[in-house]
Amino acid sequence: MKDTQSIRRALLAWFHADARDLPWRKTNDPYKIWVAEIILQQTRVDQGLPYYERFIAAFPTVQALAKARQDRVLKLWEGLGYYTRARNMHKAAKQIASQYHGKLPQQAEILALLPGIGRYTAGAIASIAFGERTPVVDGNVKRVLARLFNLDACVDEPAVEKELWRIAESLVPPQHPGDFNQAMMELGARICTPRKPLCETCPIAAQCVAEKLGVQEERPVRRAKKETPHYEIVVAAIHRDGRYLIGKRPEEGLLGGLWEFPGGKVLPGESHQEALKRECKEELDLSVRIGGLIATVNHAYSHFKVTLSVYRCTLPDSATPKPKFHTELKWAAPKEFRTFSFPKANHKFLPLL
Ligand code: SF4
Repeated sequence: MKDTQSIRRALLAWFHADARDLPWRKTNDPYKIWVAEIILQQTRVDQGLPYYERFIAAFPTVQALAKARQDRVLKLWEGLGYYTRARNMHKAAKQIASQYHGKLPQQAEILALLPGIGRYTAGAIASIAFGERTPVVDGNVKRVLARLFNLDACVDEPAVEKELWRIAESLVPPQHPGDFNQAMMELGARICTPRKPLCETCPIAAQCVAEKLGVQEERPVRRAKKETPHYEIVVAAIHRDGRYLIGKRPEEGLLGGLWEFPGGKVLPGESHQEALKRECKEELDLSVRIGGLIATVNHAYSHFKVTLSVYRCTLPDSATPKPKFHTELKWAAPKEFRTFSFPKANHKFLPLL
């Protein structure tokens, strides 16, 4: 492509002069770059920064992470969401400690064999930490490329995504591939934003086809979004002697490994009381006595929304709950809640208990 050299030069010059001063940009430590990349996958920089700092302070090396208890890892991740990221990073750290003498592999192809490291993360670590000439394509890069080359096909289609990787690969320079990849992502985050891109300050505006045609905001073409489902959830705050019954969710699946209060979705036609009784029977193998409503909480996850209705509940004296769904049950006093990792929605009602 005739403008490849100009695009590379302009982007690198802009990045070297104007990059944000971020802690993972001041290190060559592949472990720290990996942690930052995983945190930033679904999280904005300003939101992820304190998590990165706490995580690195608690686990400064791969070995430290490999030796940590999963509960501690999840506790540090609490509130960031997408907990599979933390569980996979923990698993991968164990694998790196045992199979690679605690050092991250240098090639993107080998990195991509580790849990939770997809093509994007592998490319980011290999190019930034090890200088491998390999591309990265995330949401920001997709948007920049779709505008730069004025792609009118839907970027969510696998064939178009493949084409984007091919284009990205052709653009990555042999010198400073990591800086170039970061420059593309930074441009997408700060200049080539989803709405109202700042084309007048863009270092590659001269090469941008969508800008010339005035169709920037129509690119990238995306698949129409489905409506976000909404679920009505009942929660049993079962208390006995000043403590509440909490359960640890199974490892695999949504919010895996986090602690929560028993409960679940209200089925069509069920009242809250019926749903609570059924859920407690299914999850704990017992009948609860349902008291008053403590709180109603709305929360939006990435793919669905929930309304939690939290009820004060008690058990008959002789009843012993059995973990039919959770991997573990515990009675916890409110002052102990901070030592467990709860999903974000739970934090909205914990202070009321
Ligand atoms: S000129 Fe505008 S649309 Fe094109 S890459 Fe730059 S910011 Fe994006």
